[in-house]
Amino acid sequence: MGEFIRDRLPDPADYFEGQGLVLIGRGKWRTARCDFHGGSDSLRINTESGGWCCMACGAHGGDVLAFHMQARGLEFVEAARELGAYVEGNKPHRSPAKPAGLSPRMALEVLAFEALTVAVAAGNLAQGVALTDNDRQRLTLAAGRINLLAEGVLLCA
Ligand SMILES: [Zn+2]
Repeated sequence: MGEFIRDRLPDPADYFEGQGLVLIGRGKWRTARCDFHGGSDSLRINTESGGWCCMACGAHGGDVLAFHMQARGLEFVEAARELGAYVEGNKPHRSPAKPAGLSPRMALEVLAFEALTVAVAAGNLAQGVALTDNDRQRLTLAAGRINLLAEGVLLCA
């Protein structure tokens, strides 16, 4: 088991610029392009909290960790680890042969996130925006994850 340490998350401005985004404007809130739907200047970023929201496609999150998860398609721990905010503990797992299952709460959060991904894609389609190959792959991944969740729930029931 490891531990998430929020204080170790990178500085929001450093992080977003490190992702190749150009932060336009002054003050706490900056504007950048949105890679979630391909918009040029719709992403609003709070450089103090790391919160972000796209005014066009609705993609949003409360910190750089949420951005990293959604932009890279990572789970919480994977994303936290990549950002250097996850410290591995040295306690052995109690049952190393069996992967830990998702809690119902986490399963719901994954479902909610994947549902949002699908909703954004559907919204783009409705506006006549064609899906890119990346979008298709992301949607296939979303369907796969939901299937895995369904199987996991069946196995645990
Ligand atoms: Zn967007």
